[in-house]
This record gives sequence, C-alpha cells and structure tokens, in this order.
Amino acid sequence: MLFDSHAHINYDGYDDAELRNAIAAIEASDVGAAVDVGFDIKSSVAAVAHAAKYPWCYAAVGVHPHEAAKMDEDKFARLAELSRMAGVVAIGEIGLDYYRNLSPKEDQHVWFRRQIRLGLERRLPIIIHDRDSEGDTMNILVEEGAFGSERRAAFPKNPQTGRESAGILLHCFSGSAEQALECIEMGATISIAGPVTYKKNIKTALVAERTPLSHLLIETDAPYLAPEPFRGKPNISPYVYYTAKRIAELKGVDVAEVETATWVNARRFFRIE
Ligand SMILES: [Zn+2]
Repeated sequence: MLFDSHAHINYDGYDDAELRNAIAAIEASDVGAAVDVGFDIKSSVAAVAHAAKYPWCYAAVGVHPHEAAKMDEDKFARLAELSRMAGVVAIGEIGLDYYRNLSPKEDQHVWFRRQIRLGLERRLPIIIHDRDSEGDTMNILVEEGAFGSERRAAFPKNPQTGRESAGILLHCFSGSAEQALECIEMGATISIAGPVTYKKNIKTALVAERTPLSHLLIETDAPYLAPEPFRGKPNISPYVYYTAKRIAELKGVDVAEVETATWVNARRFFRIE
C-alpha cells in the first residue's frame, strides 16, 4: 500500500470530470491513503469534505505563504474551527516562500507563526512548505517552540530508532542531505516528492540515499510536480509509486520495503489508527 502524504485533491483548477478522474485513479490503484492538503480557507474546507466522503482520505487545513497577504482574523478563526473537524490530521501547508514572494515577508511571518501556534495548541502535526527562506522557516519553528519537549511528548516515538518526533513534516524536501539529517536530529520528518526522479536532481537523490527510511514519507504534491515518466503532465496520487521506486533504487532495496516503511511511518506521523 502506498501513502501519499501530500496531494491537492482540493485543487481549485479541477473541473468536475478532472476531480472525478483523480479520485477514480486513486481508488483503482495501490494508494491506500492520501492527505488532501489545504492552501487557503476554501481548499481547507474542500479537504475536510473529501475526508468525510472518502475513507482513504485525510485532511490538512492551513494557509500557504502565497496566500498570507489575504489572511485576516475572521479567516484565522474559521481555520481554527476547521482544525477541529473530523478527519483533520494536520495543520498545513504553512511556511515561507521567498522564491515567488507572492505575499510580503512580514505577512508570511505573522501567519506562519499564528498557524504554528494553532498546531501547538491543537497538538496536531504541522506540514511545512519551505522555499528559499534562508533558514527563516526553521528559525521561526524553533522560536515558536515547535521542537520543544512538550511538543515532542504529544507524538509517538519512532519504535525503530527510539527518536522523538516533533510532528513536523518538511514537505517536498529540497535541502541537502546534511540539512535533512540535521532536521531529523531536531525531530522533523522528511517527505520526498517527484523531483527525486529527475535525472539532474543529484541533491535530492543524495537526500533519499542518506536519510534513514525510518524518517521518510513520500508524496506527490498532485497535481504539481509529476515524477518521471510523467514529468510536465498533471500529477495524480498513484504516481507516488514512481517516487517510491526511485528511492528504492537509490537505497538499493526492494520497492516493497519503501512502500511498507513509508506507509507505516505516515500512519504513525499522522496518528492514524
Ligand atoms: Zn502542496
């Protein structure tokens, strides 16, 4: 069974037929679970609705840094309300994006901090989007106590390594292998997406090779970032298999081992019984 830890089944560009196809493709595949991840209030509402409707679907609710400039207190109150709904397993995706800078840095910081605090209060895992933030994402997480001992006590330890988890998922990890190991040391979990299959992406190949399987999840970020051999096409959750296959090649293990480990890890991370 494959666990897609990050998909946008709530993608607002889908028409009805495309949404039906994306769902039918999941139901006909080896994907046994997927987290539908919010990027604004509307998509968070959709994620909660999908989680209520499909037994394999779980929801994350949150506002992406691109949308930070549009946030206000009313929307934040709505988000807090959504975080209490059935099927919600995480706050996300939240973080910082200085690459596209679609919202001013100040707004990104304010709403990132508020949403981290919501995750701490609600004792929910947090899904992090970090693009070119020059260390600010990790610094803010540390400042807000997201790696603190109180936080770690709320999440199950990794039974293989005995390492504590802070319930922080670094989605579509794009840093170096050294950074990945440092983040794991702090209590974070790494999620690898389709770009690991791109020939020129040596950096992420090294992350997949050197990061212990015990701390890895896999994801599509569908409909974005389709892996090879579908690069450039719309991505769907079943393609997460190609990411698992590439990680298996890089680690020199069977793909079944990657599937099983990432399935078990994701269920533990999101505390799904
Ligand atoms: Zn995403």
